[in-house]
Amino acid sequence: LSPLDRDQMLGLRGIREFLKVRNSYDVLPLSCRLIVFDNELLIKKSLNILIQNGIVSAPVWDSRTSTFAGLLTSTDYINVIQYYFQFPDEIDQVDQFRLSSLRDIEKAIGVLPLETVSVHPTRPLYEACRRMLRTRARRIPLVDKDDETGRETVISVITQYRILKFIAVNNEKYTTLLKKSVREIGLGTYNSLATETMSSSVLDAIHLMVKYNISAVPIVDKQNRLLNVFEAVDVIPCIKGGDYDALSSTIGEALSKRSEDFPGIYTCTEEDRLDSIFDTIRKSRVHRLIVIDDESRLRGMISLSDILKYVLLHGEEDDSIQYG
Ligand code: ADP
Repeated sequence: LSPLDRDQMLGLRGIREFLKVRNSYDVLPLSCRLIVFDNELLIKKSLNILIQNGIVSAPVWDSRTSTFAGLLTSTDYINVIQYYFQFPDEIDQVDQFRLSSLRDIEKAIGVLPLETVSVHPTRPLYEACRRMLRTRARRIPLVDKDDETGRETVISVITQYRILKFIAVNNEKYTTLLKKSVREIGLGTYNSLATETMSSSVLDAIHLMVKYNISAVPIVDKQNRLLNVFEAVDVIPCIKGGDYDALSSTIGEALSKRSEDFPGIYTCTEEDRLDSIFDTIRKSRVHRLIVIDDESRLRGMISLSDILKYVLLHGEEDDSIQYG
């Protein structure tokens, strides 16, 4: 093992140990707000509530059974959009759909059901991470259960971003050991990248996200230079007010409607090292890194799940077979 490899493994092990002794409560701020949607809320109304509150997901609560009914995310709206375009005769019905109808929508278009995976807030953070990687969930609700009554309470939701930020802020001594470059550790995806141009339609980008099961599509020019990124969450303002026909507008138009607090896009090169990626995560609200070359041409995509997977599973062959 070279000194570089040795340090890298020391850093990774340090972070893994940290994740095993901390739990999900540790990641939460002392006080935070949680907006929970009732299962009977109209989908159309849920959109406005998300937009008004500047959030992109919410846990859903079934008040008839007093149980957690799953996490509503931009994927669910994308499912509704697919339904709308697959069954154009049912336009009137789409307006009347409630969150509880999402199950039927999923069945009708043949996709996986609303993510109901959750984790107990006092379980090790490592377990929450493992569960997220296994289910490909980008966020996971913390659900507590009263031993006596069996009643569930949704405490909060933690995202991959929050966990990586928590690692970055509390483990500088380990993250600085991660001196291997993105290229050396093969971090991210570099082949068959899904891209669109500014003049493609929003619907084109949505179809691509569904087809590749990805949450962002880089927008490039004719020379493959990176101009922007269209994200699954960008779909939400597009269908505000239930106007699904607005989806035929161009990506350029849709991106110009982004809210003022859009955190921006983050890029890196294949020569960048993991320690500097953790620096970026420590300082900024990063949801993915787009890999470019010296001339701004698109090379690859690094998702937060790629980073989390590497940090948790690299070198742990047996475990990765078990957890996928
Ligand atoms: P996350 O699961 O963190 O939300 P994505 O859904 O964007 O991230 O990415 C899932 C996987 O697909 C990752 O391994 C990532 O590298 C890859 N990926 C992301 N964007 C694209 C793209 N536009 N084309 C091809 N692969 C991508």
